[in-house]
Amino acid sequence: MELATPSTKPKYSSPIMMNPTPNSTTPTTMGVPPSTPSRYENQKRRDWNTFCQYLRNHKPPLSLSTCNGAHVLDFLCYLDQFGKTKVHNQTCRFFGNPKPPALCPCPLRQAWGSLDALIGRLRAAYEAHGGKPEGNPFGARAVRIYLREVRDFQAKARGVSYTKKRKRTKLKGTPPPQPPQASSENKY
Ligand SMILES: [Zn+2]
Repeated sequence: MELATPSTKPKYSSPIMMNPTPNSTTPTTMGVPPSTPSRYENQKRRDWNTFCQYLRNHKPPLSLSTCNGAHVLDFLCYLDQFGKTKVHNQTCRFFGNPKPPALCPCPLRQAWGSLDALIGRLRAAYEAHGGKPEGNPFGARAVRIYLREVRDFQAKARGVSYTKKRKRTKLKGTPPPQPPQASSENKY
């Protein structure tokens, strides 16, 4: 009889609990391994806030209870303007070219993988906020179909740019580098 319980419990003190500040805007869990659920929870909360903000700013404002799959699709299209994945139009000569030799005017979109993960988080958040699973707009058929279409199209367009040219997105929390202060200012 071997009853020695293996000590599989990690012994490190959890760094997540050390900062009880409820309103901290700075991510305090940066060093946490990706498998930690709280990182997912943080992302889920951020996504949920973004979506609620989107509903409030909608004209006319939308309420969660009237939100349906079509609104979710609108939201996904709205997010495309912050996308960083080049997705070539079918008319573009680089369509299907994973490494286009030149620039083209095709739009940047959200990558399918990001959208798919986002919808999964929002679907969970919706139910965590008391929404009924059968009325979950993030699980709507139209949303599933849309995601499948995005996936298929992006796979064909091969728009994923693996070579970063330069960062232009300001909305992802990375502030642009500050210009160095001129050390000798000539101002009287
Ligand atoms: Zn193109």
